[in-house]
Amino acid sequence: MSGTTQDDYTDRYARRVRGMTTSEIRALFSVASRPEVVSLAGGSPYIAALPLDAVGEMLGKLASESGTTSLQYGIGQGTVELRERICEVMSLSGIHGASPDDVVVTVGGQQALDLIARLFLDPGDVVLAEGPTYVGALGVFQAAQAQVRHVAIDADGLIPAALSAAIEASGRRAKFLYLIPTYQNPAGVTLSDARRDEILDICERAGLLVVEDDPYGMLSFEGDAPLPLRARRRDGVFYVSTFSKTFAPGLRVGWILAPHAVREKLVMASEAAILCPSAFAQGAVTQYLTTMPWREQIKVYREIYRERRDALLGALHDLMPAGTSWTHPAGGLFVWTTLPDGLDSKAMMPRAIAARVAYVPGTGFYADGTGTANMRLNFSFAEPARLREGVRRLAGVMEQELAMRAVFGSTVAGSGGPHRRRGPAAADAPGPDLA
Ligand code: PMP
Repeated sequence: MSGTTQDDYTDRYARRVRGMTTSEIRALFSVASRPEVVSLAGGSPYIAALPLDAVGEMLGKLASESGTTSLQYGIGQGTVELRERICEVMSLSGIHGASPDDVVVTVGGQQALDLIARLFLDPGDVVLAEGPTYVGALGVFQAAQAQVRHVAIDADGLIPAALSAAIEASGRRAKFLYLIPTYQNPAGVTLSDARRDEILDICERAGLLVVEDDPYGMLSFEGDAPLPLRARRRDGVFYVSTFSKTFAPGLRVGWILAPHAVREKLVMASEAAILCPSAFAQGAVTQYLTTMPWREQIKVYREIYRERRDALLGALHDLMPAGTSWTHPAGGLFVWTTLPDGLDSKAMMPRAIAARVAYVPGTGFYADGTGTANMRLNFSFAEPARLREGVRRLAGVMEQELAMRAVFGSTVAGSGGPHRRRGPAAADAPGPDLA
């Protein structure tokens, strides 16, 4: 019946649907998009920085001049033209000599992750992932009924000793390590050059596949990013990337560079899901990369995001209460914040929304309910003055919580300290527009 929220189908769902529950946090995110709310919650690139008129003209031509192919079905692996361009893009990141034959075009990086999960994960298998990790990857692994085991990170990314320990604890159930080594979402940290080979060696010794997710590597603010893992090793490494952050997420074009033996199975899995990626979107990206100054556009994005990162970090430094700490990203879109002792980012969320500021509570980025002491702040979308205003509002909310805590104790300020909730928290995930 339309209009009712009661679900009469609960008994009929497949087992994998059980983990898909909604939460009060999700409802709050719908409020976060209101204009009066300063949203630090999103993950959206600043599309207004694109030359939209020129893009519009390009898209018009794509339909009028080559509509008979761009509006037709295509092949499951994606067009050769785009796969060739993708190999050129990857060579800019240091991945040289990749064959277009080993590239599979996907509907964003998100479908790339989904295809890898379909190919390799049985229910009960273990995926090792950074703690915290990308919320959309958690959703994919949960849908595959896999268990995520988090591996600790620090300012230099994944900690090798923690990875070895996690491998030891997981035994043969561990199928792959999923990681975002560069300008990580949500933590904003980058796996150091020195650790990259060490991590690859550990995985190789353990027979663990590596899924390297690299949407942000080109969005560097301070010199080039370290070489991707795939540039250091081919065997056992799946490289996933996307045009969502370097061009536009609305086109939904990403890719996988896969070990040769696996490529055909990836294509079959993709065909089963979507037949083929959009020919029009692929044509748009191909034209963009062929006829427009896309390298300059990436520089434009970098400049804008660097300025905004500086504005956010400056505001955090000036306004946050004592005891708050945060990461210093050298690229990407996000800062990861750790709250003063006892504050709970999830419990605080309704009060933040009431104060007209939004963020994503840290619990959304863990499969096990940790993260109550953290929040992810985005700096790519709001302008510098608005970022500062957002932090001012947030700091006000935190000061109030701390004051209440000082008077009434921990129960008022939320479930911090010993009462922190554990258990599946993927329902804290924001909707796709906020991922
Ligand atoms: N991986 C990571 C780490 C991301 O942050 C995102 C987008 N937020 C994606 C994959 C998916 O991006 P898309 O599907 O838009 O390419």
